[in-house]
Amino acid sequence: KADLVMVYHRLPYEEFVEDGERKRRRPRSPNGILPTLLSFFADGRAGSWVAWAIDDPELGPFEVHTDVDLERYPQLVAARVALSEADVEIFYKRFSKEAFWPTLHTFWERATFHEEHWNIFLEVNRRFAERAGAEAAEGAVIWIHDYNLWMVPAYLRELRPDLTIAFFHHTYFPSADVFNVLPWRRQIIGSLLQCDYIGFHIPRQAENFVDVARGVMPIKVLEKVNCAPRFFTYGCAVGLEEMTSEIEVAGRRIGLGAHPVGLDLHRVQRALDDDAVQARIGELREELKGQKLILSVERLDFTKGILEKLVAYETLLEENPELQGRVTLLTICVPAAPGMTIYDELQTQIEQTVGRINGRFGQIGWMPLQFFFRSVPFEQLVAYYAVADVMWITPLRDGLNLVAKEYVATQGKSGGCGVLVLSEFAGAAAELRGPILTNPHDPHELVTTCYLALTLSRDEARSRLAEAYDSVCHYDIALWGSEFMDAVRAHARGS
Ligand code: UDP
Repeated sequence: KADLVMVYHRLPYEEFVEDGERKRRRPRSPNGILPTLLSFFADGRAGSWVAWAIDDPELGPFEVHTDVDLERYPQLVAARVALSEADVEIFYKRFSKEAFWPTLHTFWERATFHEEHWNIFLEVNRRFAERAGAEAAEGAVIWIHDYNLWMVPAYLRELRPDLTIAFFHHTYFPSADVFNVLPWRRQIIGSLLQCDYIGFHIPRQAENFVDVARGVMPIKVLEKVNCAPRFFTYGCAVGLEEMTSEIEVAGRRIGLGAHPVGLDLHRVQRALDDDAVQARIGELREELKGQKLILSVERLDFTKGILEKLVAYETLLEENPELQGRVTLLTICVPAAPGMTIYDELQTQIEQTVGRINGRFGQIGWMPLQFFFRSVPFEQLVAYYAVADVMWITPLRDGLNLVAKEYVATQGKSGGCGVLVLSEFAGAAAELRGPILTNPHDPHELVTTCYLALTLSRDEARSRLAEAYDSVCHYDIALWGSEFMDAVRAHARGS
């Protein structure tokens, strides 16, 4: 039995079937959360990781427990919840992405709600709770991640009242007037209020949660904390001066915290130390032939503001003809998993816009826009980060945005003076000093901030980067994990 049980919907490795056998490989679809959570076990810490795996009777009996990686994480065991393909299709690809994801990111008018999907969601969450309960030692800490598992705390509290239940919310958490459109908001909030401690990236998200909870049941605020100096209190769309850090609901005390996820800086350094990455950096510099590179990296998603950015790039070239032939925008856009039809229309619009811009401005020897519609391994991404003069990150709404921090870390470590242009609607904007903030809902500002980044003096670029780099280095992944766990344990002792 484990003293720490991590509950995340995905396994830390990818399973696939070949020649009728279950095999595994490193996860191919990029995801910032997996390396973040795995690094928590890199020092030999013991634990159990609860996640789903496809149960296919043709592959023989289903093993619940497997090791994860004996060399790197010797004390970590995977505990698998057996799901059918059909369960995964509804639970993850359809319901979570079609009902919850748009609502959480304030695109509630795109959300669709089906009661039968909710029932499958409940059933999958119940099974996760049962598995987590079975893994946990007496008084263990259960750390649940993200909205796909919103209902786990309710089931788990009933099964195991002795456990300390912590939850970390990795996505944006919207204000009450948006969240309240969810038909099941009372059940979801009721479940989250069974936790002992709930973490969000930034204070604004925690405070939005308190507002939503207040509309569901009477809550008493026990403690508030000042958000400065760690977070922006003003001057940024997601800044906040003061946040609630403890509430009481039906006789239970619940701690709330703002813990923006940090980076594994060793991972960035390892990539930069890799000879192949250095060779690639050299090649890219050759290929750019002195042109300025603007880089954009994100999943295909309407929350990421990709279309808005492409249109802004078109305007930038139109209004500043001197930039033509002298800048290139490279967009790495990670396709959605097959079956996620919610993204089909956006993909078509993006492809049309890319074609239009290249058709309008392209010349022999210069293509204004390179659009890679695929994911690239982290090491390759680091090579692009190292050579990009401007990193252009424009989500309309984002929980945090790790790419912003990865760019700052790479530039800082490789002695660059690249400029980060960051949407003020990304969680990272409440934390990082130094980026040029931009409002992606304002087409004019998107253009002017990108132009400013391209023309910034080297001194100013360097000093902005240094500020951001300091914060990325200080609040790294190790500090994130230890701060979160310390806060959970301190709360458990106090209540
Ligand atoms: N990523 C990657 N390859 C790609 C694109 C992205 O490995 O081609 C990784 C990137 O390094 C980052 C994560 O995917 O760690 C994306 O995290 P972020 O917080 O920026 O966005 P999310 O996709 O979680 O909304």
